[in-house]
Amino acid sequence: MKLKSHSESFGPRMPVMFVGHGNPMHAISENEFTQGWQRMAEGFSPKAIVCISAHWETRGTRVTMVPKPRTIHDFGGFPPELYAVQYPAPGAPDLGSDIIAGVQGSTVEEDHEWGLDHGTWSVIRHMFPMADVPVIQLSLDRNMAPVAHYELAKELSFLRWKGVLVIGSGNVVHNLRRARWDSSEPYDWAVEFDEQTRKSILDGNHAALIKGGDLGSAASLSIPTPEHFLPLLYVLALQADGDEVRFFNERIDMGSMSMRSLVIS
Ligand code: ZN
Repeated sequence: MKLKSHSESFGPRMPVMFVGHGNPMHAISENEFTQGWQRMAEGFSPKAIVCISAHWETRGTRVTMVPKPRTIHDFGGFPPELYAVQYPAPGAPDLGSDIIAGVQGSTVEEDHEWGLDHGTWSVIRHMFPMADVPVIQLSLDRNMAPVAHYELAKELSFLRWKGVLVIGSGNVVHNLRRARWDSSEPYDWAVEFDEQTRKSILDGNHAALIKGGDLGSAASLSIPTPEHFLPLLYVLALQADGDEVRFFNERIDMGSMSMRSLVIS
């Protein structure tokens, strides 16, 4: 697809979305979370999707430039049905070029290897089952500080006026080592940090969220590693004056995985 120049607009700004993706099995399940994803995407007709997934960390920031991204099954020990899933959405190399040109404060490089990882397709296949909306991914630079991720994301705001849906896919609370496979009873620290995050989002206190895991023991247990939390910063950075935040899927799964998702529009 070819986007118009940055000064031209397709009309009102597109919403931005953060999704808690959780267990990869949601890709082939029908449950409260997948229904939430479906419901929130209803009525959206994006020209393309840019996904920032917790599951693509690189040195430097990269953007996928492949015309036909492959479906990456980046997990182990799941049933064959999950490995059989293909999500054949087209790519959008021109949109990748737009991002490379549009980000001035840091360098975004072309990537011709990556496709769509499960942070992306396990959710998007529920939202856009026809796989007819082009999808590209932007990676997480693992050497970048949270504030730098936030600043980079701010430079992507032009996408909202181009009919492009930006989706961050991760989890507000994500501690696999503590995950409860036999119970959904959430840990107190997970509830505490999830609630604290909700409040900071509603207060527009992005500075607190950028500090993330530095905020005490509930935070450090909830964000043992940053990659599932960082996609949230990309989404919040794109919040514009007058936008509203709507939460959905507000539940903690497996004790230590917040499925909290939100739409900013
Ligand atoms: Zn994940």
